[in-house]
Amino acid sequence: MADETILVVAELQGNQLNPATAHAVAAAQQIAPSCTLLVVGPVTDEVLQTAASLDGVSHVHHQPAALEICTAENLALVILERFKALQASHLFMAESTWSKDLLPRIGALLGVQPLTGVVSILDAQTFIRPTYAGNALVTLRCQEGPVLATVRITAFAAVDHTDKPSPVINGPAIEATHATRLVEISQSTNERPDLRSSAIVVCGGQALEKGGDFTPIEQLADALGGAVAATRSAVDAGLASNDLQVGQTGKVVAPKLYVAVGLSGAIQHLAGMKDSGCIVAINSDPGAPIHAVADYRLVADLYEALPQWQRHLG
Ligand SMILES: Cc1cc2nc3c(=O)[nH]c(=O)nc-3n(C[C@H](O)[C@H](O)[C@H](O)COP(=O)(O)OP(=O)(O)OC[C@H]3O[C@@H](n4cnc5c(N)ncnc54)[C@H](O)[C@@H]3O)c2cc1C
Repeated sequence: MADETILVVAELQGNQLNPATAHAVAAAQQIAPSCTLLVVGPVTDEVLQTAASLDGVSHVHHQPAALEICTAENLALVILERFKALQASHLFMAESTWSKDLLPRIGALLGVQPLTGVVSILDAQTFIRPTYAGNALVTLRCQEGPVLATVRITAFAAVDHTDKPSPVINGPAIEATHATRLVEISQSTNERPDLRSSAIVVCGGQALEKGGDFTPIEQLADALGGAVAATRSAVDAGLASNDLQVGQTGKVVAPKLYVAVGLSGAIQHLAGMKDSGCIVAINSDPGAPIHAVADYRLVADLYEALPQWQRHLG
C-alpha cells in the first residue's frame, strides 16, 4: 500500500485550519505513511506551519485565493489540477458540508464516483461506510482508477502535530473560473465549544417546544462546558439553528459524553450520535427508543431534572 499517493485537501474554518483536517490525514495514513496536504485559500504563514506540522504530511501545497472566490465551482478545478499533477491515487477530505459540495464536482470532472462518509479502510481499494441511516455498514471495493472519498472524522483519531514541519510549496494564486462569488460568511458568535469537536454535547429535542426555547439545554451545556445540539424536529420547530442538527441529515458526532434531553431517539437521529462514548438520556417516556442505546437513563420531566442537575454542578 505504500506506493499509493494521497492528496488530502485541508478544510479551513474562517482563515484557520479546521481540526477536521487532522482526522482526514489520519485516514490517509492507513493507506500510505505520508500524504500531500493541499491548502487553498487566504491563510497566514502561521496556519501553513500548523498544517505542515501535522504528523504524516510530507508536503503542504498552498494555493492562495481571495476568500470571495473560494466557492466549490472555482475550487474543484484547482484541486483536480493538483491531483493530476501529483498523479495521486487517492483524494481524501473530511466529511463536511463543504466537502459534500466540493467532492462530487471533482468526481464529475474526473468521471469517478466519490465514496462518502468512509468509517474504515481495509486496503487501498476497499472501504466501509454506513448505509440505511447508519443501520448497516457496506463494504465497497473500487475496482480501478483514482479513489475520491470523504472520511467521517469521528472514525479516525486525529494525527498529532510534530515539531518538524514539512516543506510548504507556494503555488500561484488561483483565478476564478466561474462567476459565483462568496458574498459573506456569517460566523456564529457562539462562545460554546464547536459541536463537531467538543468532548461533551448536550442535545435537545422537540420536548423543548413546551417551554418555547432552548434555554435549559444551553444552560446545562454551559455548566458542563459542552456544545449544544438539536434534533431535526427541534430545528424544524425553530428552537435551534440548522447547524446544530445531529443525525442522518445533520452532523455526525462522537463525543465522550452525549446528553440526550427530551428526544425520542429516532434512527435518523441515532445515525449521528450512537458512537458517542457515554450516552445519558433524559426522557419522560420509559419506552422512548433513546433509552435502549443510553448508558444512563433518567425517566423524568426535563424541566424538573435539568435544574436539579445544574444545582448539583453548582
Ligand atoms: C430522511 C430523514 C432524515 C432525517 N434526519 C434527521 C436528523 O438528521 N436528525 C434528527 O434528529 N432527525 C432526523 N429526522 C427526523 C426523525 O425521524 C425524527 O422525527 C426526529 O429525530 C424526532 O425528533 P425528537 O426526538 O426531538 O422529537 P420527538 O420524536 O417528538 O420526541 C420527543 C421526545 O421528548 C419526550 N418528552 C416530551 N416531553 C418531555 C419532557 N417534558 N421531559 C422529558 N422528555 C419529554 C417524549 O417522550 C419524546 O420521546 C429525519 C427524518 C427523515 C425522514
